[in-house]
Amino acid sequence: MSGAATTRSLNSIRYFTVHHAAVKPGAKNLEELKRRAASYDRTARSKPWATATGKEKGYEWNAYHWMISRDGAVLQVQLTKYMRHHAGDNARRSESHNLWGNAILLDGDFRFETPTEAQMQAASQIIYEWERDHKISTTVRAHGETSIKGTSCAGQNVGKSTQAGSNLRHIIKLVNEKHGGTLPDENEMRIRALLGVRTWVIKRRARIVNPVKKNELALLIAHISARMAELGA
Ligand SMILES: [Zn+2]
Repeated sequence: MSGAATTRSLNSIRYFTVHHAAVKPGAKNLEELKRRAASYDRTARSKPWATATGKEKGYEWNAYHWMISRDGAVLQVQLTKYMRHHAGDNARRSESHNLWGNAILLDGDFRFETPTEAQMQAASQIIYEWERDHKISTTVRAHGETSIKGTSCAGQNVGKSTQAGSNLRHIIKLVNEKHGGTLPDENEMRIRALLGVRTWVIKRRARIVNPVKKNELALLIAHISARMAELGA
């Protein structure tokens, strides 16, 4: 196909896909990561489905949006407005990570290596900041969890979102902690909106979210009633 990359509205993005490079050892730092980014650019260009972006971040073909080295350095290689072919799941249509997702590459081969804590912290920071800035909650999955053909990416040492104690679960937990524990559910969001509490809009339920406890909801309702009485509403 090899045309210009499709763009999408940032409000339509609902997924983060975690990849590994399947190249070991992972880049140690930003300097090494930049060399890898250039090399992944060449690989991506040779694919039949390659599409070119506007090169705003210096890379025209790279299939990921961000790359992270073992010391936690982050390199954004594409703007998130560009749809990239990284997940092998276009046929999932409305649930496709290619179409509606952002791709994060943890550099390394996690069939053999283990992602560093710095890499996982950096990944969670990217996701957290993106959600905060765009007021959207996303679902975070490993490439292998959405790929139609199936792949071992992001490696067994990153694991799956359904796997207790996996490093992917650790990343998701770090994102949720940055949001203050867990993301609020839709009822709580409505109540917060009524109270004028500044918060983010939930378009979709987050990854691993405990629904707001019934007693907390009752307390919030009582709080609203009291507040409305105060306001003479
Ligand atoms: Zn992958």
